[in-house]
Amino acid sequence: MATLADPNTQFTQLPHPSPVADADRERLIADPGFGKVFTDHMVVIEWTEGQGWHSHTLGPREPLSLDPAAAVLHYAQEIFEGLKAYRLDDGTMALFRPEENARRFNASARRLAMPELPEDVFVEAVRQLALADRDWFPKVPGGSLYLRPFMFADEPFLGVRPAKHYKFLVICSPAGNYFKSGSPAVSIWVSGAYTRAAPGGTGAAKCGGNYAASLVPQAEAIARGHDQVVFLDAAEHKWVEELGGMNVFFAFDDGRVVTPPLTGTILPGVTRDSLLKLAREDGLDVREERYSLDQWRADAESGKLVECFACGTAAVVTPIGRVAGEDGEFTIGSGGPGQLTSKLRERLVAIQRGAAEDRHGWVVRL
Ligand code: PMP
Repeated sequence: MATLADPNTQFTQLPHPSPVADADRERLIADPGFGKVFTDHMVVIEWTEGQGWHSHTLGPREPLSLDPAAAVLHYAQEIFEGLKAYRLDDGTMALFRPEENARRFNASARRLAMPELPEDVFVEAVRQLALADRDWFPKVPGGSLYLRPFMFADEPFLGVRPAKHYKFLVICSPAGNYFKSGSPAVSIWVSGAYTRAAPGGTGAAKCGGNYAASLVPQAEAIARGHDQVVFLDAAEHKWVEELGGMNVFFAFDDGRVVTPPLTGTILPGVTRDSLLKLAREDGLDVREERYSLDQWRADAESGKLVECFACGTAAVVTPIGRVAGEDGEFTIGSGGPGQLTSKLRERLVAIQRGAAEDRHGWVVRL
């Protein structure tokens, strides 16, 4: 693995010649929403076959120029990550487990036949961008800087083979709340017609193609008045897998907490892993087990299932109140946030904001 002492990993710093004016930036970060506002800078690193990673640059955020034959436009060789810079209670910024995103990025790269980026270079790229654009930190409660590292094949050629040239970029977006509804609990739609990932496919990779394929079922969920779609497994169409952009947890009246196992068809969420560790530390009976839609409905109706929540970087921990599918709908617990959901959310957020002891060394100060 390259280290930061390696001359290859020195970033050329090119400040934006005309950054957004202070007054405009202040207006934009007063209510940024999610994924709509972008900061002044970006990181670009290139990879060329035979040469490896080179031309590390932190420079102005600007449009890219792509050859119309760039491989990504035809064969979708693209992967990405999503992580946040948080404001700690002492006013400094920190990342949460960024090396986990770096590791998952490289797992995605391997699945898509793309080159791996040394983990320390990934983290350094994210760190440098967050620091360069720290003035963009949003002014809303719970705000953060959402960082989006991604890589794509930009070699111009037609033909199905791994490309010989790639670009890795990081862009940054001030973020407020992910869900628009502002409701304390979300409502989700069980996709009957579509699945997200098949065994042997790319479900565990964070590649753009997975999300392209989820747009129609997600639109179906929205059209029916729900916030998100939840997918069942592709083989039996029986087991609950995950939401369009979040993992899912179930909590029972006997103290059991269940989340679907990482069998290759769901994304291994960093939030999922953190919550599993926190819940186990609390002495809860936590299981990574398959859970069927039929059981979900039966347990919600009998009252055995007391809480259900979705989790991910963007939405943190979000209670699921209502589940609907082609066979009707059911409500979980009171339909609002439950005790365990609220407690786990508070514990995670407290660690992320530096308000609770960071026993695992998850918080990386910038
Ligand atoms: N599943 C999917 C499909 C996702 O896109 C995400 C968001 N990255 C997650 C789960 C949650 O992952 P994380 O906790 O790492 O954000």
